[in-house]
Amino acid sequence: MNYDIKRKINKILNNRRIRAIAVAEQNLKIARSFDIYRLIEKKEAELKIKLANILVESPKVDITKINAELKKLNEIKIKFLKKIGLTLNDIEPNYVCKLCNDTGKDNCKCINKIKSEILQESLGIKLTEDSFEKAKYINKDLDNALKFMAKWCENYPNINKKTIFISGGTGVGKTFLSNCVVNSLVSNNIFVYYVTAFKLNQIFQDKYYLKNIYDDNFNTLIDCDVLIIDDLGTEQLIKNVTINYLYLILNERNINEKATIINSNLDADNMIDRYGERIFSRIFDKKQGVAFKLLGDDVRLKK
Ligand SMILES: [Zn+2]
Repeated sequence: MNYDIKRKINKILNNRRIRAIAVAEQNLKIARSFDIYRLIEKKEAELKIKLANILVESPKVDITKINAELKKLNEIKIKFLKKIGLTLNDIEPNYVCKLCNDTGKDNCKCINKIKSEILQESLGIKLTEDSFEKAKYINKDLDNALKFMAKWCENYPNINKKTIFISGGTGVGKTFLSNCVVNSLVSNNIFVYYVTAFKLNQIFQDKYYLKNIYDDNFNTLIDCDVLIIDDLGTEQLIKNVTINYLYLILNERNINEKATIINSNLDADNMIDRYGERIFSRIFDKKQGVAFKLLGDDVRLKK
């Protein structure tokens, strides 16, 4: 990961932390503007100090009564907060990631999600709201593929099929399916990279013409946990570029047992004609791969 992305991730985490703390402080300020609340806090602090002293100096003393008082006080506090439209959670920082409190420490999983979003944004691809839960029944092909992929996402990374090829004409639901996959994986903090074949080809060209420059987009094609390529076959084939780099990426991912999902207008026969045997065998690998063909009616016509 290069410096620029790290910096962006830190900035997002910082902003989240600052926002969470500021909101909590603002709410606490509102609560503390009431005498009753300040009184509750004061009483609570006194009891907690008393409790601590007992535990340190005479641990045998019965503390049931103090605990009951603290509990009662807490109930009063909740009741009061409710009156002014707040809850206990509102006066504590509400971090986006409860695992690391938005610090990202120990390489927290939430960083994957942020990274996916930053990289997607850098490609100008906006993630949709499509999800398996919202999918309506259109036809059997799409339904089967959706069911398979929903299960696949649920089980990831414990999956047998690492390379998935989905073919079908325009408007049969391939992109919808990809979007569902992206959203499902991203919400589980998995590092997903979603590219259209057009963008993919652009990344290849940048790599080819600017050989020595470290390119995050290109490296991400190899490094990401799940790579999704949309509409393979619609891009222009550029000599020495498209096929060579596509092979390099698919091969690296196969070797490292990383998951790749490709959807295309082309079927298997057209794939071998256009991309050749080497790429074909990386995609249509009997052991690691699975292919779906979506026929069905045009989804968009039905909407
Ligand atoms: Zn986290």
